[in-house]
Amino acid sequence: MTQRPDDHRRKWNREEYERIALQRLQEEIAEEELGIPKAPTVKRELLKQRDYKVDLESKLGKSVVINKATPSSQTGGYYCNVCDCVVKDSINFLDHINGTKHQRNLGMSMKIERSTLDQVKARFAANKKKMEEKKKDYDLEQRVKELKEEEEKIKEYRKERKKDRKRKIEEANEEEESGAVDEMAAIMGFSGFASKNRK
Ligand SMILES: [Zn+2]
Repeated sequence: MTQRPDDHRRKWNREEYERIALQRLQEEIAEEELGIPKAPTVKRELLKQRDYKVDLESKLGKSVVINKATPSSQTGGYYCNVCDCVVKDSINFLDHINGTKHQRNLGMSMKIERSTLDQVKARFAANKKKMEEKKKDYDLEQRVKELKEEEEKIKEYRKERKKDRKRKIEEANEEEESGAVDEMAAIMGFSGFASKNRK
């Protein structure tokens, strides 16, 4: 029975690859000794950071009708226009665009530029500046929010006061009105309209 791996990560057969590497080295030494000129190595660019966002979601939840004549770029899944291939899911697509074959098609080696101390320092400084700016933005946002809340409170207070005043005026008017009615009733010779007439 074969042992099941704990995860689905690829496992490397170290002994096998060490054997291949050793063999290659021996061949190179042998060729050098025989005076065979080395094949010119293709100069490839160093790996670069991606300067765009990989679009993985724009087609999510959409359906397309495909048939035999549909070009592979439109058959659904993730299409790589550099390698002209379709990958079926986002994880594999990311694997693909980060992989050797794709990078080679882009003219990249898989080598990474080694950063200098100055570059690292500059990156630290830039990140620090970015964070400070973010904080400043945050402070400003907070202040604007507080001001807005304060304004809102003042408005509410004014509204309440206006309502209060209106109520007082209305009450005063009512009193005056009922006073007027009483007066009228006295003149007409009876007290109160509604209650007596309804009996
Ligand atoms: Zn590709």
